[in-house]
Amino acid sequence: MHYDAIIIGAGMSGIAAGIRLAMFDKKVCILESHYVIGGLNSFYNMKARKFDVGLHAVTNYVPRGTKGAPLTKLFRQLRIPYEDFKLKPQNYSEVVFPNKRITFTNDPKHLEESIAKEFPHQIDQYIKLIEFILSYDNLTLDKVETQTAREFLNEVFTDQTLIEMILCPLTYYGSAIENDMELGQFVTMYKSILLEGFARPDEGVRQILKVLKKKYKEVGGELKLRNGVTKLIRKNELITEIHTEKEEILTADLIISSAGYLNTLNLIDGYEPQTPQKFTGMMSFMESISCLSKPQTDFNYDASITFFNTRENYLYEDAKDFIDPCSGVICSPGNYQLDKPIDEPVIRITNIANFKLWEDLKTNDIDKYYHQKEDSYQRSLKEVFKFKDDFTSAVTFTDIFTPHTIKRYTGHINGAVYGSPVKTKTGKTPFDNLVICGTDQGFLGIIGAILSGISISNLYGLVK
Ligand SMILES: Cc1cc2nc3c(=O)[nH]c(=O)nc-3n(C[C@H](O)[C@H](O)[C@H](O)COP(=O)(O)OP(=O)(O)OC[C@H]3O[C@@H](n4cnc5c(N)ncnc54)[C@H](O)[C@@H]3O)c2cc1C
Repeated sequence: MHYDAIIIGAGMSGIAAGIRLAMFDKKVCILESHYVIGGLNSFYNMKARKFDVGLHAVTNYVPRGTKGAPLTKLFRQLRIPYEDFKLKPQNYSEVVFPNKRITFTNDPKHLEESIAKEFPHQIDQYIKLIEFILSYDNLTLDKVETQTAREFLNEVFTDQTLIEMILCPLTYYGSAIENDMELGQFVTMYKSILLEGFARPDEGVRQILKVLKKKYKEVGGELKLRNGVTKLIRKNELITEIHTEKEEILTADLIISSAGYLNTLNLIDGYEPQTPQKFTGMMSFMESISCLSKPQTDFNYDASITFFNTRENYLYEDAKDFIDPCSGVICSPGNYQLDKPIDEPVIRITNIANFKLWEDLKTNDIDKYYHQKEDSYQRSLKEVFKFKDDFTSAVTFTDIFTPHTIKRYTGHINGAVYGSPVKTKTGKTPFDNLVICGTDQGFLGIIGAILSGISISNLYGLVK
């Protein structure tokens, strides 16, 4: 069977790419290894409960009709009504460090005031930072930066704690490299989290996936689940055949892969990617989900999202042990401007985790793996209860996922949440009809991934 375009992976970026191409009458097929769509932002049922795999919040939130905003562009390009995602804005979020706390909402003035209060000697520099961010051109895909985010921030601010408090939410929500970020990525993340903001779909990630899947069907796209790509055959600089798990052999003018840069090149029969270690990420997470019998606010968990660090210096680096409990993210899905309270209060806690340790345990000693999950959960809670109230008396059910789970859902090497440390912004590979979209193109998060799918399909699939 021949297609105009085949898309590898039905994560957020893959589905968005599929919608965009099918909308312009291209014959498109998405091939997905998993039995559900969504990739890293999927969902599952357990003990009659519905859980999201990765959703804390949707970034880039702006009210309907906000001109020039990425979210507005997303709805316009996919021809989806704004209301369909049913986004409910956050209450407020916070960054908590020893003896310092800054808060932010979807109004950037709030953060400015919070910084003025906590770091009065840095407020003029902060205003300069915002001017820089607003004037930064992050649309040029092949722009090369000479500075990293940390190097740049060191020139702007003199207070290291403020630098780290700014980096904490942005690295946790979008850095594939340790203790730093690429400057362009920093600006994109800053805008999406600290200038625009957070929201949650009423029904969690299912709401977004339901809308995207419906749209993809409406525009005539084909979706094959549990039919991942096993092999790509090349002839010179072209991919000539796509082999699938169900032993189909397909052909396409264009192949867009959301499976990761290195993962994609590894699928090519007889091809050895150059410098593979350069494209191998390592930042992975453990996440616990605690279901509660009482509202989280009874225990003073009022923020939508809390980013925290309990050390003197913030470390965003691969965990030396199974997890690093000393920094993380606490997410309370009930703390959004919802129409009605959520059915069951939940607190999610994310910590950096070591892929290799978890993977070895899962492979060699399954009992120890489950034991370690419980042990790491307790360590994670113990650290959080140093600065937040203990909610364990209300816990009715817990689920925990590890870097192993992330690898299972996405295929990412090392369970690396944000994929390769080196991003391929143009999407190009050494093969003329094979491009990548999503995480390894450098557009992260749900909205970033969707925009990546849109822009890569516009660039390579809809050129006249
Ligand atoms: C714990 C956690 C919390 C997060 N929270 C948020 C959040 O609150 N807000 C937010 O915006 N983002 C969040 N993210 C990040 C967000 O989930 C991702 O950035 C985004 O979903 C990436 O989408 P993608 O399409 O690039 O890739 P992926 O989701 O990785 O999708 C790739 C797809 O390709 C498939 N695939 C791989 N190999 C093959 C193959 N050979 N053949 C066929 N299919 C294949 C995979 O199964 C997968 O479905 C979170 C991530 C994690 C881990």
